[in-house]
Amino acid sequence: MIKYNLKCHNNHEFESWFSNSSEFDNLKKKKLLECIFCTSKKINKSIMAPMVSGTRENNQEYPKNFDKIIRNEKNKLLELRKYVEKNFEFVGDDFSRKVREVFYDKKSKKTIYGTTTAEERKELEEEGIDLFSIPWVNKDN
Ligand SMILES: [Zn+2]
Repeated sequence: MIKYNLKCHNNHEFESWFSNSSEFDNLKKKKLLECIFCTSKKINKSIMAPMVSGTRENNQEYPKNFDKIIRNEKNKLLELRKYVEKNFEFVGDDFSRKVREVFYDKKSKKTIYGTTTAEERKELEEEGIDLFSIPWVNKDN
């Protein structure tokens, strides 16, 4: 942030904050700057008083352990994948048909997993079949 002391052609002085030095010029060119007293658009910089807000470290940089966070998340997803593979029956592309069988057969307690297209998924949703989709991470790499 940079603070400028501004002055209009009627010699009114006021302060204004800008995110950087070129913002003043941009706003002036677009005639978006005006005097807070007389709304004159003939504004000029008076004295410049630069101020820096925040430190560079705070500016939208990834945290230092970003890699580690990603790896941890991936490991959690891998655990989830292992769990599903162990406890659910894989039906592959046949999922939307199979899931209906399970859904409409009230006795069935089968838990299955597989893949659907976005379209199939929408149809199933409309039938009131709740699906749970999980990000499927690769085991290698
Ligand atoms: Zn003025």
